Amino acid sequence: ITIPQTKGKPRLLLMGQRRSGKSSISGVVFQKVSPSETLFLESTARIHKNNLSSFMEFQVWDFPGQIDVFDNPNFAFDMDAIFGEIGALIWVIDAQDDYLEAVARLNNTILHLQRSYPHINIEVFIHKVDGLSDDYKLDIQRDVTIRIQDELSDQGVENAPVSFHLTSIYNHSIFEAFSKVIQKLIPRLGQLEAMLTNLCRTCRFEKAYLFDVTTKIYIATDSTPEDMASYEICSDYLDVIIDFTQVYGNWQRSPDWRKHLEQAPWMQPLEDQVACERAESGMVLSDAQRPIMLREVDRFLALVAIMKEGSYEKMPQINMNVDVVVKGLTEFFEITKPKETRTTTETIA
Ligand code: GDP
Repeated sequence: ITIPQTKGKPRLLLMGQRRSGKSSISGVVFQKVSPSETLFLESTARIHKNNLSSFMEFQVWDFPGQIDVFDNPNFAFDMDAIFGEIGALIWVIDAQDDYLEAVARLNNTILHLQRSYPHINIEVFIHKVDGLSDDYKLDIQRDVTIRIQDELSDQGVENAPVSFHLTSIYNHSIFEAFSKVIQKLIPRLGQLEAMLTNLCRTCRFEKAYLFDVTTKIYIATDSTPEDMASYEICSDYLDVIIDFTQVYGNWQRSPDWRKHLEQAPWMQPLEDQVACERAESGMVLSDAQRPIMLREVDRFLALVAIMKEGSYEKMPQINMNVDVVVKGLTEFFEITKPKETRTTTETIA
């Protein structure tokens, strides 16, 4: 088996036992498959290389559970090709099944990686936790954590970069977990967070997220405490807007077409045309009277924020501040932005 090298791309690798949920996860997060459709997905039996171009380039390699890459005389795996450039290894454990075997395989993998590729973050997804009680979830997480840490310290490995996430494809937890995984791979994340925190302060936003539009993973948020409900509202809102743009048109409009769509009084005089350049939208949530706003940053990124009650009147001022931050964000990502968007799935084996 030869695995093509893909130099220079941060790569995520998805591994775990057969039926642990790998194909479902990459389907739901990267291909917009609805969770219920995953019931009919073919279980992973090959190595999928899923090349997804968004604001950064991720690769999700979906490994079949039955292949042990470290201990398999039948396969000559090129370890460097598999692990050489990856940023994070995501190991999926089925929490609804007996996980001892999965934990043992994971331990083995971590020990191997620590020897040759100690920089790789190991992200353990304790998966399929929907339907489990909160107490039970935490019990499982504690049990898995202890089993891994004990084994590692028995083997003399300290401070391995292992993190744990409770996930399910039936709610937003899988996106939340991916967000955390990706954020660790973003250089200078603190700077991004500071920009959003500042924006929240000057505009009196409750919470702001910078979303990768294709995956609904959030790249950064402001420094206020994590809040799953806000993330859910913002990501659902993003979905609505994407559906709208798919029905009513593309975000990339030529200047002529923009002129055609947005004639006076909406269109500013020629020298001020930037004012209408981007997609933006606002909506007031009926439950809490809080307005929510979305602002396109570029082809891949969108800023979504929940405002405080009553801030709708200050929109002109808010828009000005948002403009400045959007400009800052665009500059920040200038280096990592790919030229075109493209999703390809190749199967190698
Ligand atoms: P793979 O062999 O690791 O690729 O596993 P699959 O993606 O084929 O998933 C195996 C089964 O697990 C499928 O029937 C999925 O519908 C189911 N599954 C995946 N994720 C979840 C989850 O978060 N919760 C539940 N309850 N089932 C899941």
